[in-house]
Amino acid sequence: MGRVLIVGRPNVGKSTLFNRLVGRRKNIVSPIPGVTRDIVEAQVQWKDRKFIVADTGGIMEKGDELTREVRDKVLKAIRKADVILFVVDGREGITASDQNIAKILYPYRDKVFLVVNKIDNKSLEKNLYEFYSLGFERVFGISAEHGRGVGDLLDAVLPFLKEDEELSYEGIKVSFVGRPNVGKSSLINAIMGEEKVLVSPVAGTTRDAVELPFEYGGERFVLVDTAGMRRPSKVEYGVEFFSVGRSIKAIELSDVVCLVLDLTEGVTHQDQKIGGLIERRYRGCVIVGNKVDLVKTPPSQLESYIRQRLHFLDFAPVVFTSAIQKRGVEDLLKTITLVYADYVKQHKTSFVNRAVEKVLAEKEPPSYQGKDLKVYYAFQEGIKPPTVVIITNYPEGWKAHYVKFFTRRLREYLNIKHAPLKLVIRGRE
Ligand code: GDP
Ligand code: GDP
Repeated sequence: MGRVLIVGRPNVGKSTLFNRLVGRRKNIVSPIPGVTRDIVEAQVQWKDRKFIVADTGGIMEKGDELTREVRDKVLKAIRKADVILFVVDGREGITASDQNIAKILYPYRDKVFLVVNKIDNKSLEKNLYEFYSLGFERVFGISAEHGRGVGDLLDAVLPFLKEDEELSYEGIKVSFVGRPNVGKSSLINAIMGEEKVLVSPVAGTTRDAVELPFEYGGERFVLVDTAGMRRPSKVEYGVEFFSVGRSIKAIELSDVVCLVLDLTEGVTHQDQKIGGLIERRYRGCVIVGNKVDLVKTPPSQLESYIRQRLHFLDFAPVVFTSAIQKRGVEDLLKTITLVYADYVKQHKTSFVNRAVEKVLAEKEPPSYQGKDLKVYYAFQEGIKPPTVVIITNYPEGWKAHYVKFFTRRLREYLNIKHAPLKLVIRGRE
């Protein structure tokens, strides 16, 4: 996947450009202590080509006083990028910081596009000329705010990008799903920071999933945010027409799904439906009881009520939050890492077989058409979710209720407390 990196001193319009390319709102500093902003990345599509755009805005905020660590990070990103958009301010002209950045970028000039921003109209185009003195061959005048010239810039960028391949950031992929109004956006804002202006996307770009990396407690996360997952559904369709289909994409892209409930409304039929989507896709899950500030019932009582209504998500921990008061959010992030640790747990074949024997000793499989069901052996086929294959004489003899029992007990013996376990019943070939 091609990578485009946006650099430049503060206030030249880097984030405005990033938002225009990505078509989303900007995140600023997180109010949760310990969450640090990294280089923000998102996937963009332009004329059937998908690529990653990364904005250094958040970490280059200090301008000239780049710490060593930030400098190293930026240099690494510069090397990794196929294209560097070096943004300058077409109204202010060249400054000393621009010249410093130009020096850093000069060794990489073959992939640098000098982007002169704030050229909002034709009469400002004459401002471009002075910038040629920075020594870069490709100079583009744009207005990130109004979209002027952005299409031409992207057309010029495309040939420099590596071919498409599977997009994958490192980190635990997390999403927030739930009915409208339960507090998904508020929770995301509590983690990622309040949002600024909504900028409309460049015409012709489509957004499906935006992936936003962040760190907490030394652990890397990627927030998966799909278009339409959040508030607009309410406006477009009204609460009653909320469609679970909108959440499916987010669930499929996630390792851990946070199923957000509004505690003032309890667990509704709709919540159970979304929970079912998570269960059937074998994703890790945290049940988030939000708006805990508005209820008086003690947590233990709330939890047993939730567990009963969402019994099929018995592997999912329950966490209580108040997005408004920013309570429970750190607990939520820690719980996500716990779930993930189980979601990627890998056991040796000998251990799996011993666990299987223990389950069989607890309760024999029911007989099938008068014959005994046998387990020849078992092994773990993979992770995400942990998947155990059972080799048996009659796969069709394993009825749903016994498989359910077996899975639940095996999960316990395998010490997979917080993640689902997928059982595959296979015959001997
Ligand atoms: P960053 O610090 O480089 O990320 O800059 P921002 O994106 O936060 O923009 C800094 C300021 O420049 C903001 O007030 C923007 O509204 C403004 N700005 C960004 N792009 C343009 C543009 O194309 N034209 C004009 N006139 N102002 C812009
Ligand atoms: P979304 O549609 O799921 O993204 O929900 P929002 O984040 O937009 O929240 C819906 C409404 O519930 C807003 O008015 C929020 O201010 C409010 N809200 C969200 N979380 C909480 C919370 O923890 N406590 C309280 N009292 N209100 C909340």
